[in-house]
Amino acid sequence: MTALPATTGKKLGLVIDLDVCVGCHACAVNCKEWNSGGHMAPLTDLAPYAAGTSGVWFNRVHAFEVVPDNTAAPDGGGRTVYFPKSCLHCEDAACVTVCPTGASFKRAEDGIVLVNESKCIGCKLCSWACPYGAREFDADAGVMKKCTLCIDRIYNDNLDESERVPACVSTCPTHARHFGDLGDPDSAVSKLVAERGGYDLMPELGYKPTNKYLPPRPRKCGADATGAAAELPAMPGADRPLLRWVDRVLSR
Ligand code: SF4
Ligand code: SF4
Ligand code: SF4
Repeated sequence: MTALPATTGKKLGLVIDLDVCVGCHACAVNCKEWNSGGHMAPLTDLAPYAAGTSGVWFNRVHAFEVVPDNTAAPDGGGRTVYFPKSCLHCEDAACVTVCPTGASFKRAEDGIVLVNESKCIGCKLCSWACPYGAREFDADAGVMKKCTLCIDRIYNDNLDESERVPACVSTCPTHARHFGDLGDPDSAVSKLVAERGGYDLMPELGYKPTNKYLPPRPRKCGADATGAAAELPAMPGADRPLLRWVDRVLSR
């Protein structure tokens, strides 16, 4: 089993704004494009145009229809929420501690969780341990792969400084994705999380994900209504209705 660093110098991660994500998949496609030639390359696609296709995608965008139980909106008040998901670079990463070879590891300097392919034996214990479904097994190579937080961009001296951000962040047309040090309370991402009430996915599991999600804002109603509900549908006992619901879907 593999040890985690006691502390990390930084907590680099992503902040994803569910209020403005439009589900265009630009982040997923640019992630695939960049990483097909990057640190974890190649990213296999098996039978891409046939039944039973499978492939390695570090970032996947899910869509959920959320319909409130009681709304006065004439159209029912439902809305679609897009939910991009990649590795959350957890502080207490279960994928690391279960790894029998040391292939999965968390970097002490910046908190990024990576896989050393030369040590990976393809046992898939990490993908069983990850509660977020963020691991991607490359059947061609027989090794596990995952989001690297684009280490080959963010530290790449050959790129202009403005481009040293993850590929998914650089391409998002609605600026739904932000990158930075979530261990620094004065960083732009930390301030954004504080302002918008961003929070962890499934915090009850205790893996302390670094990535944060910003909840959708309530929509206007009355004369200014755009058709969506003023309030998101409440789940029993939940103070954060939508993300609690997403938690429940991911937990199935
Ligand atoms: Fe590991 Fe999953 Fe956490 Fe990523 S999201 S660090 S793969 S447990
Ligand atoms: Fe993909 Fe890089 Fe974004 Fe991770 S940080 S999801 S590897 S583009
Ligand atoms: Fe959402 Fe931005 Fe990704 Fe499009 S590129 S799916 S808007 S996060």
